Amino acid sequence: MEGFAARSGIDLAEIQARVARERACPKHRFEIGAGPYAMGVKYQCAHCGAQKRLMDIGDYIAGYRAAGGDPNDICPDWKG
Ligand SMILES: [Zn+2]
Repeated sequence: MEGFAARSGIDLAEIQARVARERACPKHRFEIGAGPYAMGVKYQCAHCGAQKRLMDIGDYIAGYRAAGGDPNDICPDWKG
């Protein structure tokens, strides 16, 4: 793996630390504001610093809602 990291310039330890932080986050919270929104822009979780695109936030909210949660807990400005 060290050879791969050295060749690619990718810091695997940093990526693993980021994934661990994101998994440990009890509940993401994204303050996306009132818009306008652009595809591809990433928003940051206020708790763990995870960065997600709107589509990924939508998936996360759909799962949270399916589990009985209120989407506004995740994103106060979420419509839909
Ligand atoms: Zn989070």
